[in-house]
Amino acid sequence: MAKRDYYDVLGVNKSASPEELKSAYRKLAVKYHPDKNPGDKGAEEKFKEASEAYGILSDKSKKENYDNFGHAAFENGGGGQSGFGGFGGFSGADFSDIFEDFFGDFGGGRRSSRGRNSNNRGSDLRYDLSITLEEAYAGKKQNIQFSTSEKCNTCKGNGSKPGSSPDRCTYCGGNGRVRSNQGFFTVQQTCPQCAGSGEEITNPCSDCNGQGNTQTSKKVSVTIPKGVDDGTRIRLAGKGEAGTRGGASGDLYLFINVKSHELFKRSDVNLFFEFPISIADAALGTTIEIPTIDGKKAKIKIPDGTQDGKQFRLKGKGMPFMRRGDFGDLYVQIKTEVPVYLNKEQRSLLEKFREIENDKSNPSIKKFFQKAKDFWKS
Ligand SMILES: [Zn+2]
Ligand SMILES: [Zn+2]
Repeated sequence: MAKRDYYDVLGVNKSASPEELKSAYRKLAVKYHPDKNPGDKGAEEKFKEASEAYGILSDKSKKENYDNFGHAAFENGGGGQSGFGGFGGFSGADFSDIFEDFFGDFGGGRRSSRGRNSNNRGSDLRYDLSITLEEAYAGKKQNIQFSTSEKCNTCKGNGSKPGSSPDRCTYCGGNGRVRSNQGFFTVQQTCPQCAGSGEEITNPCSDCNGQGNTQTSKKVSVTIPKGVDDGTRIRLAGKGEAGTRGGASGDLYLFINVKSHELFKRSDVNLFFEFPISIADAALGTTIEIPTIDGKKAKIKIPDGTQDGKQFRLKGKGMPFMRRGDFGDLYVQIKTEVPVYLNKEQRSLLEKFREIENDKSNPSIKKFFQKAKDFWKS
């Protein structure tokens, strides 16, 4: 089923203000809340749908992504682009906060221990980083740059013009929560006016319009540990968006994509590749020189009579175990190549060879025909 447009879900138009979004969500949330509609799957779905829509649209940067890219912004980690630097919402992050915002004391006992300011926590961010297999092997330091919100320097995040201080919120009288009647229920909610802070900014800071945060481009230097694998997730605590009014910062999640390699295939900490050799080398034996992931070479002695598919293991020549000192192995599989486009001399030599071939030099062939003969006889 196609996902409904978030604005349609909330029944508002694209130009709706944050207050309009909030009030539209609150109406739906109260109407479809599971506690009020026990066992009603339809209501539960509607409740989840509205929570998701509000989770995105109430967040400035997520809303921007959604307005630009639609639902695609939140699949694949953002923007729909692959590779370096895609950015997007981090699904499933804050719904519990939103829930608590409106239903903190609904039905009693539901309140979490995360405290009053948990809904002021900044959003988590996701950053997709593509690296090569060699970089995954050696580890690296990487500077990443992204746009995020940071605590406003002018007002130190409190939203008031320097020198002035916020007043007590007139809506909730400063206690951060208000009671309202919803049918039979009395619901205690976080004050919609002050978002639970109990304060009202009467003299807003002109650099952040009283938000306490400003949008900036942030640079962070990160260390990619040796041995990261495709899909490794690195959490950088507190490097996400700044919280509002004293809330904690969100986290930055680095999602590592290790690009596939031309030569080496990886399976966990082991590496693997096929090494083609001629039938003459396979039959007579030789020494081969093979590449290793550290950029060096290693030698393998191929004994005479080496069959196609034979594997050689080079201990410790694989990928490093993350946060350990040791390494996986490198497996080299021999692939014998039957020669093509023979010239005259090669052809006549092989013809001569065929004439003098015998059972002893081709034991598998001998064995097969022995079995076939028995089969035909019976
Ligand atoms: Zn400010
Ligand atoms: Zn208030």
